[in-house]
Amino acid sequence: QIFMPLNFLGFVYREIRGSLANIENLFDLLEKPPKILDKDDATELQVSRGEIRFNEVGFYYDEKRQILKNVSFTVKAGSKVAVVGESGAGKSTLVKLLFRFYDPSAGHISIDDQDIAKQTQASVRQQIGIVPEDTVLFNDTLYENIRYGKPEASDDEINQAIKLAHLDEFVDRLPNKGDTQVGERGLKLSGGEKQRVAIARTILKRPPIMVFDEATSSLDSQSEQAILSALREIAKGHTSFMIAHRLSTIVDADNIIVMDQGSVAEQGSHEELLALNGLYSRLWQAQQKNQAQIEEN
Ligand code: ATP
Repeated sequence: QIFMPLNFLGFVYREIRGSLANIENLFDLLEKPPKILDKDDATELQVSRGEIRFNEVGFYYDEKRQILKNVSFTVKAGSKVAVVGESGAGKSTLVKLLFRFYDPSAGHISIDDQDIAKQTQASVRQQIGIVPEDTVLFNDTLYENIRYGKPEASDDEINQAIKLAHLDEFVDRLPNKGDTQVGERGLKLSGGEKQRVAIARTILKRPPIMVFDEATSSLDSQSEQAILSALREIAKGHTSFMIAHRLSTIVDADNIIVMDQGSVAEQGSHEELLALNGLYSRLWQAQQKNQAQIEEN
């Protein structure tokens, strides 16, 4: 009776220790989804181009409520694709499936023609960098927080990532520069600063596929510009997949997928979607109107 809990605690301890080197695993632990197990004959995902394909994907968390229905789209290698849609449309669920927090209940998702449900979770996550809406900062120095993206990174590599993430001016103003303690017990960073730390981690990791979950809370326009320009920097030569709340940030995307109640309602470039005069066009007009009202007040 005593042995079982101790054994379990040992397991949790090893899981957490093992995960610290990999931020996404920690994210995984915090999310606590039902365990998705690797198949006995699972292979390692090999990424050469970075093409993502959702093929007639269906998904539910609870059998009684279908969340995704027949979702199909392709993210071409090296392209920038944005997913938009109203709250609850299923945007984050797409990312959770791509990251193998869950497996689809119908259809399949492939990366470079390999069904990810047949690959090891670790190898799938290794190839994908995520900049979440809200980034977890550990109680450690800013430098060490960025190093989580690549534990063996040199100081030069970290400084380069800080620059590309447009964090350098911020770091220069800190009392102990990059050695300043951050997190709950140290300096608290704003939402935009935390996202730029996550971008710097991802720049260090340099995965072939990058996923960016745009913050819903409105950032000041200077922060937003710094983040957008950092993103352009890291997206170069990578496949990037972005969940966007403000349509103004994704007008230059190669393809925009418009989700509505778990299905793909429309897809195309910003101009193509406006010309369709459908859901995207309505969302765009509503946001333009809101923006005009904010500027008026
Ligand atoms: P938002 O823009 O508000 O973040 P979204 O488009 O990303 O929304 P999802 O988070 O993918 O939407 O959620 C799609 C649907 O799935 C919602 O109705 C939500 O309530 C439901 N859902 C999300 N996570 C879970 C979960 N863990 N268990 C059960 N239902 C869930």
